[in-house]
Amino acid sequence: MQICQECIRRYGGIPKGFEEGIQCHICNGVFQKVDQLIDLFLNETKEYEFSTFLIGSSFPKKQIELDSSILSEQFPKGRGLKHHFNSLIGSRIEKLTGKTVEFKVPELVFKFNLEDFSTELEIKPIYVAGRYLKLKRGIPQSPWIHPGANESLSVSEYIGIPITKSFKGKDYNFFASGREDVDVLMLGNGRPFYVEVLKPVKRSSDLMEIENKISNFSGGAIEVRELHIANSEEIEKMKEELHDKLYEVSIELESPIENLESKLENIKNLEILQRTPNRVLKSRSDLVRKKMVYSIEVVDYKYTQAKIRIKASSGTYIKEFIHGDNGRTTPSLSSILGVNIKIDYLNVLEVN
Ligand SMILES: [Zn+2]
Repeated sequence: MQICQECIRRYGGIPKGFEEGIQCHICNGVFQKVDQLIDLFLNETKEYEFSTFLIGSSFPKKQIELDSSILSEQFPKGRGLKHHFNSLIGSRIEKLTGKTVEFKVPELVFKFNLEDFSTELEIKPIYVAGRYLKLKRGIPQSPWIHPGANESLSVSEYIGIPITKSFKGKDYNFFASGREDVDVLMLGNGRPFYVEVLKPVKRSSDLMEIENKISNFSGGAIEVRELHIANSEEIEKMKEELHDKLYEVSIELESPIENLESKLENIKNLEILQRTPNRVLKSRSDLVRKKMVYSIEVVDYKYTQAKIRIKASSGTYIKEFIHGDNGRTTPSLSSILGVNIKIDYLNVLEVN
């Protein structure tokens, strides 16, 4: 039985019963095909921009078994077939292209199946993060499930589509730290978000230009700031982060309240219990959640009309805290003041 030079080199010797030759019984001649395999890699990845990659491979089971037994019985310090193949191809490609093998977070993974000589190319997503402002009402954060003729696109589409186009991705996922209702503006420093661009052809782009594109595409309704490419650690952190928020609400009281300012401004670190609001019961389970209202500031008050600012913990249903949702949120502003309250508008001013 013959063994090739490359297999002799990785073992550190010739196994018993073998002689040097080209018809290698162990690797099945794969090391003679390295140039062709590298050409396959170069050809199939040429469309994509990347600077790091990883090579993977799978061999027929019989071949691996023979290799393992020779290694363990005769060359315990030798290098396994698969390991040697991956690192040989990897380092040859490094030299040819100037790109780097990366084990932890490669931008691209290329797998050779040496049973049927098929290949598999996996392009890792790219994450584009920033903060968004919503300057017009009537825009939902997620796409409408049954969009009507007059419905606008959603925040996720206004942001996700231009970003995905710029990186020439196949598709995208949108994630934001919390959400505002359709009729609520997102102002101030904006809400953190990221877009996961799937199978991007490009991995860099002019981010300032993308910010402008989003603004134009949404007709000025959505503005994006601090756009940057995020790494996976930042994304993981964002998924877990809880943000306090500052809201501005214009309310109409059923009747005027004496000393409204001091009554509201005395509210500090108030614990409230919120049962899942009636309006979202269809999509969320019916639970009681404990939330915090940290402080309330009265910006403006005349007769029954007031503009107030409320600082509350992550996930507080602010509208329900104001009107009480028929007793499902307790206490509420309405129960504290002893009047019914209508909401004219609600804006998010800060996401911390
Ligand atoms: Zn061989």
